[in-house]
Amino acid sequence: MDSQTLDLKSLIRSIPDYPKAGIIFRDITSLIAHGEGFRQSVRELAAPFQEMGISKVAGIEARGFIFGGAIADLLGVGFVPIRKQGKLPGEVVGQDYALEYGTDRIELHADAIAPGEKVLLIDDLIATGGTAVAAIELLERVGGDIVASAFVIDLPDLGGANLLRDKGVKVHCLMAFEGL
Ligand code: AMP
Repeated sequence: MDSQTLDLKSLIRSIPDYPKAGIIFRDITSLIAHGEGFRQSVRELAAPFQEMGISKVAGIEARGFIFGGAIADLLGVGFVPIRKQGKLPGEVVGQDYALEYGTDRIELHADAIAPGEKVLLIDDLIATGGTAVAAIELLERVGGDIVASAFVIDLPDLGGANLLRDKGVKVHCLMAFEGL
């Protein structure tokens, strides 16, 4: 690491027992509040994808929008929001996915991706991979070719990144934390 390179992991704030006992919440607000830290994280997230022919960046609500919008700008391509149910005004496709208790639903505009477009999926963190797998299914349903995904944080003990790799999606993460 040269003197110009920040230790991004030290800019993540860890909050124990949030939102419930036993979970350590990995908070990216402390990273994005740091101008150089935010810029470096966006550049490092986008770096492997400069020459991959990506034509859309898809971000998952809400923290995936913060990084995804900046990465789309850096790559010079469009941004597509994957939103919680009921937020998008046009015709949508939706996908349910399992939470620890119950289910949730994400939606995508049906015309957001042209058939065959190469898509890069972005979120702040991958844990079990349930959210990202649901997002990939949606993007594939509208014809996207999901070539890669990038996350600031990986929680490898929860297996989500390997789940995506098993589906043939390249996974790029800037750091990892052990445990839940
Ligand atoms: P998963 O579907 O299990 O991969 O969970 C990923 C989503 O939940 C991401 O959108 C994260 O923002 C959020 N998330 C899960 N676990 C944590 C955690 N320990 N700290 C912060 N966010 C988390």
